[in-house]
Amino acid sequence: MRLSEALRLAERMLAEHRLCDSCLGRQFATLGYGLSNRERGESLKVTLLLEACLKAEEGRRKALETVRTLAANGGLKAAEQTLEKLGLKVEAERKPCEICEDRLSEVEELGRMAVEELEPYEYESFLVGARIPARIVEVEDELRGCYSISWGENIKGEFTREVGKVIARLTGKRVEFKNPDVIVTISPYSSQRKVAVKANPIFVEGRYRKLVSGIPQARWLCGKCRGKGCKACNWTGRKYPESVQEIIEKPFLAQTLGDEADFHAGGREDIDAKVLGTGRPFVIEIKNPRRRTLDLRKIAEEINSSGKVEVEGLKMAGKEAVAKVKAAEAYTKTYQILVESDKPITLRELRKLEEFFTERRISQWTPRRVLHRRADRERVKTVYKVEAKRVSRKRFEASVKCQGGLYVKELVDGDEGRTKPSMSEVLGKKLKCISLTVLKVEEERVGGGHD
Ligand SMILES: [Zn+2]
Ligand SMILES: [Zn+2]
Repeated sequence: MRLSEALRLAERMLAEHRLCDSCLGRQFATLGYGLSNRERGESLKVTLLLEACLKAEEGRRKALETVRTLAANGGLKAAEQTLEKLGLKVEAERKPCEICEDRLSEVEELGRMAVEELEPYEYESFLVGARIPARIVEVEDELRGCYSISWGENIKGEFTREVGKVIARLTGKRVEFKNPDVIVTISPYSSQRKVAVKANPIFVEGRYRKLVSGIPQARWLCGKCRGKGCKACNWTGRKYPESVQEIIEKPFLAQTLGDEADFHAGGREDIDAKVLGTGRPFVIEIKNPRRRTLDLRKIAEEINSSGKVEVEGLKMAGKEAVAKVKAAEAYTKTYQILVESDKPITLRELRKLEEFFTERRISQWTPRRVLHRRADRERVKTVYKVEAKRVSRKRFEASVKCQGGLYVKELVDGDEGRTKPSMSEVLGKKLKCISLTVLKVEEERVGGGHD
């Protein structure tokens, strides 16, 4: 586009519409580099005024129309003053810009509000998003259609960029598109809250051991009140007062001042099972954290002092760590079990078990104890190795190394024929798993499922 074409287009637009500098300039966004749309719009208006003044001096009365337009629809102060100087009447009425309704003049204020909201947050980078009502976007689209304008950016882009510039100037922090620490959402047309801030979550990975049985892995809400608190749960809202998740979460939330946390673990253990040995991998996701620099050593110390849960190998991670730890459900697991038999057990029978359950494929239908929350389907999992040791006449201890997702209690008792073959079946005795501990979760073999 040539300058003269741009000027004629701007003149036509202003003759028919009230447009602020930003909204006019935005329609010429390909014109000139290093200019804001506001500067671009103002320059066009000033150029039109200079051109009109020259023409007026040449005696062309029509040029005065342009000066009037610039004063009324362009809101150009210099145009108003020109008219006054010429002794012409100035219409005082000033209506707002037809596209942005003059809200683009509030970017500085929006930026300042954002900086205030950002006060409690620790962050290096940010990104601004905007909620712009459909009516505003439609007015702009329609206007563009009228003048066959296909270039330029939309009003949303202008709001987010300009507010971003204000925040960057006031805080010295940088705009980051891919993975910002915090997201500022502006709602310039809202009558209530115009600025909201939310920090992106932080992720920490590690491994945990559960030293005691009797606490669930995940927060377990009271079934009666669903967490609100009632007589049945003694107003705690919980079926169990604590969980691995809550013990681990607590110091993280205290340090980050986050809203809440999600706990992702590589498989889960029953409430009565322990996790010992090298422990189970997990990732904790802290939502809307105010602090992002953590003292992980102090957090680990605090968790470990619970005497119930221990963590190790804590380190900052990205969100891809969640998918990775979920995949760990399928990893090879080693369990320590204690089994009780209805009849005495001989050493020979234990050797028989070890021999039989070497690289043995096991078919399992969903155990009856979890049928209420899981679909009834068959899984085939492999037991790699069993090592058994008698501890009393009717009891033996064994380590079971198997594919992740195998139900170990059912491997022992057979679950009334739903797990085949089982230890009960092989020995022709009634066996029961009376304690179960996770010793190891390792990565080398891959299958699918949970404990
Ligand atoms: Zn405007
Ligand atoms: Zn309750």
